Amino acid sequence: MLQGRVLKYHSGFYSVFSDGVITICKLRGKIKKQTHNVDLVAIGDSVEYIRFEDGTGVIEKILPRSNELIRMMSGTKIEYRQVLISNLDQILLVFSCAKPEPRLRMLDRFLVICEKQAIHPIILINKTDLIGMEKARKIFQIYEKIGYHVLYTSVVEHIGIETMQSLLTGKVTGLVGPSGVGKSSLINLIDPELDLKVNEISEATDKGRHTTVVREMFPLKGGGFVADLPGLKTLALWDIEPEELDGYFPEIRPLVSHCLYSDCTHRPEEIGCAVQKAVETGEVSKERLESFLRIRYGEDDPA
Ligand code: GDP
Ligand code: ZN
Repeated sequence: MLQGRVLKYHSGFYSVFSDGVITICKLRGKIKKQTHNVDLVAIGDSVEYIRFEDGTGVIEKILPRSNELIRMMSGTKIEYRQVLISNLDQILLVFSCAKPEPRLRMLDRFLVICEKQAIHPIILINKTDLIGMEKARKIFQIYEKIGYHVLYTSVVEHIGIETMQSLLTGKVTGLVGPSGVGKSSLINLIDPELDLKVNEISEATDKGRHTTVVREMFPLKGGGFVADLPGLKTLALWDIEPEELDGYFPEIRPLVSHCLYSDCTHRPEEIGCAVQKAVETGEVSKERLESFLRIRYGEDDPA
């Protein structure tokens, strides 16, 4: 029995990767019968499989997942869990200093999703060449202060690329960020054999299958995998109860118990709000509280 990683699903077949080889596998019938869950096997799954002489294979067993990104789908009769991807070690949130302008609200939403799913986020800020490192750090230092890992890169000036490479090597990384920030450029730089544009082709042939959020995971030459997660945007904050949201802002979390009222909404009109006070003293960023309030009270624009 071999052990491999599921990279891709395509009309009944799974691409399973191990030792530099991709085997196109079917799923053993007995596994299918175990449940009627449509997403029995997810991209990212570790599986045990048999490879036949003709090069095809059969998945015999899905190994336990360390985590999964899920969204709820409603069918005509039932709601079911769709596993977008499993076994992620980390999520790389890619934004740029300029062109396009950094969208901090979107970044904050992604961070909440990472906190909720307990997947380690790394914030990558690309295109530092456009405004200079000093200005770049000024914009994003609030995230460093909270304790997030922020990495600054420039594809043009080849800054931070080795660091990014060492962070990705040997890990399973989900990649997310607005288009145009340089995701493909960055990945192509660290692994020229891996061309994310391939993804765009499969997207075109996949038209109409709008439920497909993660199409493929790519093996990295030095070990590890990268998966594009464009669907994280639409994943939104589906399963977060409003009351638990402050728990997903690491700098707000410890303050909540110091608010005068236990049902404090942390809005400006609240009396004795420890979070508002922390904003006044500069301990908590105004922007971050704004993001929190927008997500909490539904004035958020998910686009
Ligand atoms: P993606 O949509 O996130 O995959 O972004 P792309 O990799 O396609 O890059 C979008 C555009 O930004 C392209 O024209 C790239 O050449 C450019 N670009 C990528 N990285 C940098 C960078 O570090 N600095 C500058 N100035 N441009 C970059
Ligand atoms: Zn409060």
